[in-house]
Amino acid sequence: MSQHHVTPNSQASAQSSIRPRLVVGLTGGIGSGKSAATKWFFEQGIDIIDADIIAHEVMAKGSKTLRQLQRKFGDWVIKDNGEMDRAAVRSLVFSSPDALMELEAITHPAIREAAKAKLAQSTSEYVILSAPLLIEGAEAGLANLCQRILVIDATEATQLERASRRDAQSISRIKAIMANQLSREERNHHADDVVVNDGDLDAFYDKLAPLHELYLQQAKLC
Ligand code: ADP
Repeated sequence: MSQHHVTPNSQASAQSSIRPRLVVGLTGGIGSGKSAATKWFFEQGIDIIDADIIAHEVMAKGSKTLRQLQRKFGDWVIKDNGEMDRAAVRSLVFSSPDALMELEAITHPAIREAAKAKLAQSTSEYVILSAPLLIEGAEAGLANLCQRILVIDATEATQLERASRRDAQSISRIKAIMANQLSREERNHHADDVVVNDGDLDAFYDKLAPLHELYLQQAKLC
């Protein structure tokens, strides 16, 4: 599909090359099909901003955010090779809600700023901001960068089946992740658009196609 901007006048065209007019937040439970959806949108020429990737990038070796974390928790957060000791930090915040809040007070603003910078660089007609905890992690402020929320929905049984087939994670670990995420009902309640991914991949893409058309139309009106 064409990546060219379809805009009614040259002024609008110049604006759309500076920043996209419509930001669609894409979310869903583990194994629902978020990555499959973002891959499809990317193939249509739509820029994808992935909160998981940003979360890794902002904590990269030598980053300001990692130094802030070191000042807060101590030198143990950084391994000998200069990278963050993710396992150690994960185990701390798993056992301490206060530590989790302190961690998020450092990471969330950094993630939001990085997401905003990527949005400003994006040139596609609209842009997808993909975040597994877009709705749960409202304090990260990513949801309010979005004008529209698209939820990819699947039954818990399907989520479990797909996620365990994709990674060698145990069923109990996937269930633990699901327990930390919103229920389907709660998540869908926050959605502007819900795509139920309950068929094969071609059926899934057929459901995404009309939304892509809708977002292209909306992007022109923003
Ligand atoms: P998420 O990013 O939401 O965790 P993925 O997009 O990675 O989920 O999907 C989980 C796994 O299931 C992947 O291996 C993906 O290719 C596969 N998958 C997703 N949707 C379908 C579908 N409709 N039919 C078959 N396999 C699917």
